[in-house]
Amino acid sequence: MTAMQAQNTLAGQIVSAIREVVGAGPAMLHEPSFNGNEWLYLKECLDSTFVSSVGKFVDRFELELAEFTGAKHAVAVVNGTAALHIALKLAGVTAGDEVLVPALTFVATANAVTYCGAIPHFVDSDVATLGIDAAKLRDYLLSHTEQRANQCVNRASGRIIRAMVPMHAFGHPVNLDELLAIARDFNLALVEDAAESLGSYYHGRHTGTFGLMGTLSFNGNKTITTGGGGAILTNDVELARHAKHLTTTAKLPHRWEYRHDEIGYNYRLPNLNAALGCAQLEQLPRMLAAKRELFCRYQAAFMQIAGVKLIAEPDQCLSNYWLQTLLLDAERADQRDRVLQASNDAGFMTRPAWALMHQLAPFEECPRMDLSMALSLSRRLINIPSSASLVPDAI
Ligand SMILES: *Cc1c(COP(=O)(O)O)cnc(C)c1O
Repeated sequence: MTAMQAQNTLAGQIVSAIREVVGAGPAMLHEPSFNGNEWLYLKECLDSTFVSSVGKFVDRFELELAEFTGAKHAVAVVNGTAALHIALKLAGVTAGDEVLVPALTFVATANAVTYCGAIPHFVDSDVATLGIDAAKLRDYLLSHTEQRANQCVNRASGRIIRAMVPMHAFGHPVNLDELLAIARDFNLALVEDAAESLGSYYHGRHTGTFGLMGTLSFNGNKTITTGGGGAILTNDVELARHAKHLTTTAKLPHRWEYRHDEIGYNYRLPNLNAALGCAQLEQLPRMLAAKRELFCRYQAAFMQIAGVKLIAEPDQCLSNYWLQTLLLDAERADQRDRVLQASNDAGFMTRPAWALMHQLAPFEECPRMDLSMALSLSRRLINIPSSASLVPDAI
């Protein structure tokens, strides 16, 4: 193929569009940026010797997270998966239950369900949000479940479906109004996996604050990072107290005695990580602005290209644009691997969506509805370089 011909393929056009926006490259998928008080706060930690489970940055990080998201309470934990584990446990998920989880998600969502001894039950996606398809879920629950003593029972398995975990994929809010209505109508607890959506709003309110609880992640590839970290958001003071207790070994407060009143977890966030988090939170508004600007630049570049569209925030939502995402037209799905190859060869890190959960060995036997949209999306989605630092003038 000549250079001219390569330019004209869909893959060639996509690589050119990425280059037009981010420059010559190379560009990672998502890099953290540390442009604020990170060094200062970390040094303060070291100087104080409070690097571990005690220290002022943990309390401060929790207060500032609550303030930023509008949640009444935030409990900082060691990572987003641990946050999901504890949120599900506090939502009443126990051994032998089923929990509705999107098939199109990162593995942590399904893993956390199994940590409670429960079984993930996979549901399909909505092309408009990339999250759970609420209308399809309602029809499915109507025909496949029955209410027994105010519990939702899966007729096929006889198990109780205890909860649902919508996930805001790549930062785009799901249809929360309809999912909350389903949760009410079918007696399901709703826990939001908001790991990817810090800074995303549904109808003006921050994601992760709608359900009984919501969870965040501050892993190195997320919008802001604490190295590793996560948080549980809730408006319920009792749930917040219990989440803090369970994630700090369930120790009863006492000046010298070690007494634990239930089986707890060592899931607390170290002070060092929280210090990083406080500095990152100060930078968050600028990073969100940069990521939005990056979206606008990509949108202008991809508008010209037939066969592919850049995913935009759903109606009445503000997305954090954590990962910028291309969706190939259905007839172009066969081009995906060529796009991945050409872009990675050119130094632009791109990757497909996750393998669907029911395709992973540990979850092959799990119950599921028809997953045709999730399957179609998983063959057509491509994440492209998304770091805030790609818009240096904005951060
Ligand atoms: C990042 C992420 C998590 C949590 O990840 P940790 O690495 O444990 O912090 C959970 N769910 C989704 C969808 C994620 O993207």
